[in-house]
Amino acid sequence: MALGKDYATQECSIARALEIVGERWTLLVVRDALYGIRRYNDFLVHLGAPRAVLAARLQTLTSEGILEKRRYQESPPRDEYVVTERGIALWPALRALGLWGREHFGEEQLRFFRHADCGTELGSYGECPACGTVVPVRDVIMVPGPGLDPHPADPVSRALLRPKRLLQPLQIDPA
Ligand SMILES: [Zn+2]
Repeated sequence: MALGKDYATQECSIARALEIVGERWTLLVVRDALYGIRRYNDFLVHLGAPRAVLAARLQTLTSEGILEKRRYQESPPRDEYVVTERGIALWPALRALGLWGREHFGEEQLRFFRHADCGTELGSYGECPACGTVVPVRDVIMVPGPGLDPHPADPVSRALLRPKRLLQPLQIDPA
């Protein structure tokens, strides 16, 4: 585990979770996986993380059962990383971090997250205020907000400008 003994004295579930997701880039990889990004190069392009760091994070997330490596091409062999139920379960934490960031650091809204069934924006706890239900991640539609750059340089960010369901594989136009 990358953070080693740093939290060894902490008998705490938050510390346990941070052993896995507390490293720089890790939660952003999970975020992108929830957005439907699956391929190494697409993570690389979208995150701009150093290659070795991204490879290490994907390795950790795979060995911790948060992402699952799946072969999508045999020759040459190519794998993609698909978020597991354990990874999907991080959605409320990511959502809460996003809301906290916007509320306390005054960012303009970058993305809206809406209930696919009715189009209502999710509440603070990932619930649909109109339907009165907690919305499953699969039923969340991501829509660009006013703070998002409408002309991003990379094809992954461009693909993410189209409204899409979370988890659904991102369709990226060839450059
Ligand atoms: Zn609803």
